[in-house]
Amino acid sequence: MRPSPACISMIERLVAFDTTSHRSNLDAISFLRETLEALGAQCRLTYDDERRKANLYATLGPTDRPGIMLSGHTDVVPVDGQTWSSDPFRLTERNSCFFGRGSADMKSFIGLCMALAPEFLARGLETPLHFSFSYDEEMGCVGVRRLISDMAGLPIKPKLCIVGEPTGMQVIAGHKGKKSLRCHVHGKECHSALAQGVNAVEAAAEVIAHISTIQRRIRRDGPFDQSYEPPYTTLHTGIVKGGRALNIVPRDCEFEFEIRALPGHDSDALFEEIRRFATSQIEPEMKAVDPATGLEFEIMNNTTGFDLPDDHPAVRFVSALTGANQTGRVSFGTEAGLFNDAGVPTVVCGPGFIEQAHRPDEFISADQLAQGEAFLRRLMDYVCR
Ligand SMILES: [Zn+2]
Repeated sequence: MRPSPACISMIERLVAFDTTSHRSNLDAISFLRETLEALGAQCRLTYDDERRKANLYATLGPTDRPGIMLSGHTDVVPVDGQTWSSDPFRLTERNSCFFGRGSADMKSFIGLCMALAPEFLARGLETPLHFSFSYDEEMGCVGVRRLISDMAGLPIKPKLCIVGEPTGMQVIAGHKGKKSLRCHVHGKECHSALAQGVNAVEAAAEVIAHISTIQRRIRRDGPFDQSYEPPYTTLHTGIVKGGRALNIVPRDCEFEFEIRALPGHDSDALFEEIRRFATSQIEPEMKAVDPATGLEFEIMNNTTGFDLPDDHPAVRFVSALTGANQTGRVSFGTEAGLFNDAGVPTVVCGPGFIEQAHRPDEFISADQLAQGEAFLRRLMDYVCR
């Protein structure tokens, strides 16, 4: 199966915008907005603090009733340090696959929505269609939070949302949440031959070891949900920075860790457990030497998980569109948790595969694109007169 030429050329245009997360996405957003406004869509933009990036929320069709929202992020991960066989910002076809940064994650989905928008409108939308195109998703669903709070102020909210992350067109009815955390350990510097210091690296090491202990306990005792892989909440420390020389007792140490919690497993409680260990087991000894020392925790990012039952109307509706009789759960996060929290039932379903994203020579197959297009056409049959 092949997608229509209109879809391919729209995806080509979107891939050509270098919307790597650290760059502005305004050129891409202007293009999307102008294209949609020319079709008569109502567009709302929400910006980041510097007004370098924007989210686009567009409504096609009637504005007096709740519609179906199709959501995707405009940003892509960097290509730095990756070796590509062709220009990552030029969609290139080889062997029925389309290569380019964002081809899988997730400009193809946005491209399909855009390419089919004129047809949705021409056929007459009975149920409105909303597009939500956000920035900084790859930074921890940062941008879409502003779109969601803007949307919350609107008189009518969408009744259902499909996040088109690459799932191979499988309907994903749940994913884990993710809390990204940082701990700064304030120690006290001194010559390592003396016993007057507070070793920040060692204090950090004890907390990090405790995080591993909690992980071991969860791996052994659960909670478990076999629909996830791995079927339990995961914790890990990913970055440690500390120390300046072997003969100096280190004053500072910083480490970053994350909790990817099963929906329903309280990551706040786990974080609290780690913090309590630090304040009750590690800090007293430090403060006895110098009250100015201690550990400071910071939540860098918090993306909630979600889990909709298989018989939830939103899950059944999207499953009917794909023709699948099975749903899946995944361990990677998307903005679906945030939309669900905001009261918009949301599932994840889109063309392409996450395994083919974020890598050099990222690609999407022609077949996946065609499946995505067919999916949107079935949605068309539902929302149009
Ligand atoms: Zn993505």
